[in-house]
Amino acid sequence: MRIKQNANLKKYNTFGLNCIAERLFHLENEVDLVEYHQHQNGYAKQKLLFSGGSNLLLCSEIKGTVARIEWDGIKILSETEQDILVEVAAGHSWHEFVLWAIENGYGGIENLSLIPGHVGTAPIQNIGAYGVEVKSSIESLRFYRWETGETEVLNNNVCEFGYRTSVFKTKLRNKGVILSVNFKLTKNEHNLNTKYGSVIDEINKMGKIPSILNISKAIISIRSAKLPDPKNIGNSGSFFKNPIISKNTLIDLREKHKNIPFYVHENASVKLSAGWLIEMSGWKGKSHGDAGMHDKQALVLVNHGNATGEELWDFAKEVKEDVYKNFNINLEPEVNLIGLVNN
Ligand SMILES: Cc1cc2nc3c(=O)[nH]c(=O)nc-3n(C[C@H](O)[C@H](O)[C@H](O)COP(=O)(O)OP(=O)(O)OC[C@H]3O[C@@H](n4cnc5c(N)ncnc54)[C@H](O)[C@@H]3O)c2cc1C
Repeated sequence: MRIKQNANLKKYNTFGLNCIAERLFHLENEVDLVEYHQHQNGYAKQKLLFSGGSNLLLCSEIKGTVARIEWDGIKILSETEQDILVEVAAGHSWHEFVLWAIENGYGGIENLSLIPGHVGTAPIQNIGAYGVEVKSSIESLRFYRWETGETEVLNNNVCEFGYRTSVFKTKLRNKGVILSVNFKLTKNEHNLNTKYGSVIDEINKMGKIPSILNISKAIISIRSAKLPDPKNIGNSGSFFKNPIISKNTLIDLREKHKNIPFYVHENASVKLSAGWLIEMSGWKGKSHGDAGMHDKQALVLVNHGNATGEELWDFAKEVKEDVYKNFNINLEPEVNLIGLVNN
C-alpha cells in the first residue's frame, strides 16, 4: 500500500483545489482497505474516502487521512441469450466501463457516457443523464461495513435509489465502502432511450440510426460542447440538484413566472430546472474572483484558477440565497461538501 505524507489533493479533485491532507493512502486492492481499516494508528477513524474526486468540494484543509479507492477490473459472472451479469471493481473508471460495454455490444448504460468518476461511486447519487439512471442496470453491490469489518451483498431493492440519491447518502452515509458493483446489461434487445430531443437531433445530424454506439457518440458530442472539461476548468458538473416540488407549488409559481420550465416527476410532483432558476436570477457566467457559474451552463460552479473551496461555497451560497429570494425555492447541493463547519 502506498502512503503519501502531506499530499496535495489538487490532481485528485476535479475542482482542482489545492488542499493538503496529512496522509493519503492509495488503496490498490481490497486487502489494502482491510489493512488501512485495521491500522494500529487508527488512521481510518476519519474515514474520508476519495474515488474520482468529481463529486466533492473540499471546503477546508483536511486535518487527517484520506483513502483513495484505486482497485479496478471487470469480471463476467454469467450470461444468457438476453443479458450478461458483470462485476466491476469500485475504482474502475466509469466512462471506461461504459466504453467496454459498448465495444462488446452490451446495452443499458450508453446514456451515461462521459460521466466522470469511478464505478463504486455511481450508485451513491444514482448517477443519471439523458433520461437514464444507473439504478436500472444495477443488480447488487458489495459493501464493506466499517463497524463490523464484514462485507455484505446489498441487492438493488435495498439501495433506496431515488433522484440523485440512495441509502448511501442517508442511512449508510460514511458507514462503509462500496467494493464492487454487479450490473445486468442487455445483449440483444436493447432498450434504447432517445427521449431527450437533443440526443435524437445529434444522431440525425451524424446521419446515423439509433444504436448503443450512436447514442453514446451523440451524448459524448453534446456533453463535450456543453460542459466544461475539468482538465481545463475546475468543476464538479451540476452543483445543485434540480428541485422537486408539488404540482400545487408549481401552480403558485406560474402565476408570477409564466414561462418556468418543468418536467413531470413521480408521485404527482414536478422537477424544475435549477439551471434556469440560476440563469433567471442573473448568475449565469458571473464570477467573484475565481469562483463563478459557467457561462454556457448556469448550473455548473467553476473554479477559474485559484479559488479556494471556501470561496466556491460562499459563492454558491449567494446563488442559492438569490434563487430563494426570487422563487422561494431552496436549492440543495448535489456535490458532497467536505469539511464544512458552518453552512
Ligand atoms: C464535468 C462533470 C460532469 C458530470 N456529469 C454528471 C451527470 O451527468 N450525472 C451525474 O449523476 N453526475 C455527474 N457528475 C458528478 C460525478 O461525476 C458523479 O457523481 C460521480 O459518480 C462521482 O464519482 P467519483 O468517483 O468522482 O466520486 P468522489 O467525488 O470521489 O466521491 C463522492 C462521494 O462518495 C464517497 N466515496 C468515494 N468512493 C466511495 C466508495 N467506494 N464507497 C463509499 N463511498 C465512497 C466520497 O467520500 C464522497 O463523499 C459530473 C461531474 C463532472 C465533473
